[in-house]
Amino acid sequence: MKRINLWILASLLLTATACKKSNSGTDEGKKEEPQPVVEYKPNTTYYGKGNLVKLVTGDLNSPIILASPHDGTEKPEDMPVRTHTDAVVVRDLYLTDVTEKVAAALYAKTGLRPHIVINYVERARMEPNRALAETYHKSEAANALWREYHEFLKGAKEMVEKNVGKGLFLDMHGHGHDKDRIEVGYLTAISDLNGTDDLLNNKATASSIYNISTTSPYSFSQLIRGDYAFGTLLANEGVKAVPSKQDPKPNSDPYFNGGYCTLTYGSKVSGKVSAIQLETPGPGFRDNAALRTASAPKVADAIIKYMQTHYGLFIGK
Ligand SMILES: [Zn+2]
Repeated sequence: MKRINLWILASLLLTATACKKSNSGTDEGKKEEPQPVVEYKPNTTYYGKGNLVKLVTGDLNSPIILASPHDGTEKPEDMPVRTHTDAVVVRDLYLTDVTEKVAAALYAKTGLRPHIVINYVERARMEPNRALAETYHKSEAANALWREYHEFLKGAKEMVEKNVGKGLFLDMHGHGHDKDRIEVGYLTAISDLNGTDDLLNNKATASSIYNISTTSPYSFSQLIRGDYAFGTLLANEGVKAVPSKQDPKPNSDPYFNGGYCTLTYGSKVSGKVSAIQLETPGPGFRDNAALRTASAPKVADAIIKYMQTHYGLFIGK
């Protein structure tokens, strides 16, 4: 496995550009900060500055991207703890391990390694799942790390678009709500999920799987809680999930419907990469290593069945 430090690469390129400028002497006074153009290679590990975020590219023809934004434990001194009253700072415990185990299970079952993006810094100091203006970061160093994380996600999405043409991004999280079930988020509002199928069928354009709905023979309500909805496929594997055929509506229970990354890298706005936020429970799913080892292949099986049904990929796996 190759390991590349992108920050060092960027520094070298900046140095090279600076030398070139002083030699030519033609553009004095101009303040340019050229960004390196990086074409990511398959099956390669890329690190940002200080090894605080990581992209592990998968196989070129993998349609899957997985990310773990909230399980970091690093405490860089130049990224103070966010203290704004609206800043959520809770760690999503063991989600990086869950993510890596799901990736390993997908590889074992399909022969294709997914792309993986990991953040190693405490969520209290850097928040990848909010727009930069809403992170309440306390330093420019935290902003820079946020940008690196999103460059990696953007790069992974571009690899999928270029080499497969369509794909699925799963943003991996953990909740502490009372009901031990995965909350499957498509950006769809709770009030719409709690409504009738007729109401829900009019809400596809506002979802992170909008592109799937444009080509699917299934109605949007079926994509959310029908036989082949992601939640239903999870429940079929023995992993409780809402919304699903087995548990169709969140009703008045706490439920996360997806955040900034699901919005940014899904197909609500454009494109053929859709996104789903998976908010996993602790008990029965990830609270100890044995549970995580048991849960990950079930999630992988649900992903494979989802790709077979809605993408025509992984057929025969
Ligand atoms: Zn989270």
